[in-house]
Amino acid sequence: MPDHRVLVIGAGIGGLTAASALALFGVQVDLVERRTALGGHAARFACKATDRCVKCGACLVTEAIAAATSDPRIRIHAESRVGEFRRTSQRFEFTIERSGEAMPGGGRAPGAGRDAAPPAAASADAVVLAAGFDAFDPKDKAYGHGVFPNVITLLEMEQELRQPGGLKRPSDGSAPQRIAFIQCVGSRDAKLGHLWCSQFCCGAALRAARRIKSLRPQTEITVFYIDIQSFGRDFETFYRQSQQDLRLIRAIPSEAFAVDGGGVRLIYTEGALHPATEAVFDLVVLSTGMVPPAGLDELAARLGLILADTGYASRDPANGIFAAGAVRGPMSIADSMADARDAAARVLAFLDRPWSLAERLPAAPRPPCSHLVIPQGACKAGDVR
Ligand SMILES: Cc1cc2nc3c(=O)[nH]c(=O)nc-3n(C[C@H](O)[C@H](O)[C@H](O)COP(=O)(O)OP(=O)(O)OC[C@H]3O[C@@H](n4cnc5c(N)ncnc54)[C@H](O)[C@@H]3O)c2cc1C
Ligand code: SF4
Ligand code: SF4
Repeated sequence: MPDHRVLVIGAGIGGLTAASALALFGVQVDLVERRTALGGHAARFACKATDRCVKCGACLVTEAIAAATSDPRIRIHAESRVGEFRRTSQRFEFTIERSGEAMPGGGRAPGAGRDAAPPAAASADAVVLAAGFDAFDPKDKAYGHGVFPNVITLLEMEQELRQPGGLKRPSDGSAPQRIAFIQCVGSRDAKLGHLWCSQFCCGAALRAARRIKSLRPQTEITVFYIDIQSFGRDFETFYRQSQQDLRLIRAIPSEAFAVDGGGVRLIYTEGALHPATEAVFDLVVLSTGMVPPAGLDELAARLGLILADTGYASRDPANGIFAAGAVRGPMSIADSMADARDAAARVLAFLDRPWSLAERLPAAPRPPCSHLVIPQGACKAGDVR
């Protein structure tokens, strides 16, 4: 496929996968990443292996970075963003500018620093939008995040787990003995208009909890949940082991209060017939879900892309713009990679056809329907899958 160029926006696992898939077919790729480091969220996760690999998928990002950075057909522009952007009759013309956005927390992940000098202007035949997601900011929830030091998010816990010595309490550096995870923070929340299930956080919390238990078996871990989203082929076995190792409570705490010594008291009610219960924990981890990334509406407007009602991106194959990965809605690492390969296949089909025919391409698959909360028993899809 000579002389075709594609602009890929975002170098998370989705953007890296799409870029490598396109390069494999001879396409020249400009991969633009606003941060210093490549890999997106997944590059910030800890390995959750216990006595065996638990297939969290985090290490796939290392391979994806290695593949993209070693491919001469991929020109990487780290710490950059698309500036001016316009559509001509059959191409896109754009500039690439410095974004000035470093890695959150100041770290540098693998792949940082291999970037091309930004060209004054560039052009592309198609665009892959792989801008991913943001983790929900829980500051307005009644759990005291940002106020009580020992209330942290799942993403903050990932960073702690990567440190030598493992998870510590932010307030005093001690090893927490009683840990609570609160699921569905910022997801499945009608008040926020976030009706979607974020897909990853049940698996991520249970894997992290079992990793902590494997390192310090005396730790008592409670997981507060609405229901557990199944994940992966080995889910049933993993779930049964989790029930043995962890205390799973089907209730979402309403409030958190600070107690002496850095503890956090949670108030929760297990069903309408039970009285409110209190329990004190050394550390509370909020399983904050996914939201569309900041600035997506402005970027979409410049690309001429209409966002879905949820705020996530949809594809515009007739006009050569293909969203890929979690920018389309909550998805796991494996799903983001599969979606990116699908987007790359559609780009290749698009590049082979005149623009006027592109709209005849079959419709892109939508993310799984479980992104929305469906009343229990209403969906019959499982019966036929
Ligand atoms: C705490 C936590 C734990 C998780 N654990 C797991 C797990 O165990 N297993 C699992 O499968 N999934 C897990 N996930 C989900 C996983 O993070 C996502 O599935 C995955 O990161 C999606 O990849 P992506 O490339 O689509 O998006 P992202 O990882 O968000 O990557 C998007 C990239 O685009 C860049 N970008 C955004 N806007 C622009 C722009 N305008 N210009 C240039 N670049 C831009 C971003 O900087 C980022 O690098 C977890 C998520 C969180 C928050
Ligand atoms: S637990 Fe996750 S990061 Fe660790 S080896 Fe397995 S897939 Fe890789
Ligand atoms: S995966 Fe879904 S059900 Fe589980 S914590 Fe996340 S939003 Fe809630």
